[in-house]
Amino acid sequence: MKIQSIAIGMALIAGLTSLGHAQTTADSTRSGLTKPTEKKYQAKAPKTQPFGAAAFGPSKQTTVRWLGFAGFLVNSRGTTLMVDPVLEGFDMPVLIDMPISPKEVPHLDAVLITHGDNDHYSVSTTKGLAPVTRAFHSTLYVDSLMKNIGLPSFGHGIGDQFSVGPVRVMVTPADHAWQNAYPGTSQRLFKPEDCAGFWMETPDGTIWAPGDSRLIEDHHLTRPTPDALFFDFSDSEWHFGLQNAVKIANAYPNTPLLLCHWGSVDAPDFTPFNGDPKQLAKLIINPGRIHVLAPGEPFTLKPVKKSK
Ligand SMILES: [Zn+2]
Repeated sequence: MKIQSIAIGMALIAGLTSLGHAQTTADSTRSGLTKPTEKKYQAKAPKTQPFGAAAFGPSKQTTVRWLGFAGFLVNSRGTTLMVDPVLEGFDMPVLIDMPISPKEVPHLDAVLITHGDNDHYSVSTTKGLAPVTRAFHSTLYVDSLMKNIGLPSFGHGIGDQFSVGPVRVMVTPADHAWQNAYPGTSQRLFKPEDCAGFWMETPDGTIWAPGDSRLIEDHHLTRPTPDALFFDFSDSEWHFGLQNAVKIANAYPNTPLLLCHWGSVDAPDFTPFNGDPKQLAKLIINPGRIHVLAPGEPFTLKPVKKSK
């Protein structure tokens, strides 16, 4: 989610910051010293592990790297795709160093975009990747935005399938049309199918990128067991929310959780960006499967024990 919600979040941050500042000022008046405003706690990602062209080369396995934000690079036996890459140009302060810049990317078979919010669809990043990317895939709405800037893009409905090399991709539903709740955000009425997730079957196992969404019980809790889950545990009303994220995690108790949508944007009071892996670990079955990856750190996909 973005724009108005972030504006609301930032107003909240500004309010809280000014409150904290007033208290600091009162303290410093008493002591006669000027104290710096104390920054609120926010969980931060481990130090970035930069990578280069070798991550895009031939491979006998499927490797996943978190890119920061909700972005991932998948290299499945030499076929490469990125999901929701934001590698430059974000409009808020960030907490991480990017593991790679668009101009360092040698080749991508595809870029997959779950929805149009700018923490997922980065115009700057996609333009930067365009010269080396064979195809961009998203919803019909985001496809129209990408076509407007000349990208070789394809739009899909929910349930559609397409292939990227050996990776079979199915477009899964999401519930994230937050704009409609804030009159004035957009002239447009946003539709549920403007946002999506991706179910990616690779030769080495299945990866699920559910995208930003509120919980859809008869979808998110009823999939076959994936072998890796791009896991957004943001405690936001427009996302799963922490408790519902736990329900999803526990519906697939052996699935590795590759954390995302946390630790990247400097926004300690804004719930879509301020998730804390330590809270998550206390709540889920089998917390050892939480992968607090550093941006750029490789994760090797392996089939997990299926419970259903
Ligand atoms: Zn988001």
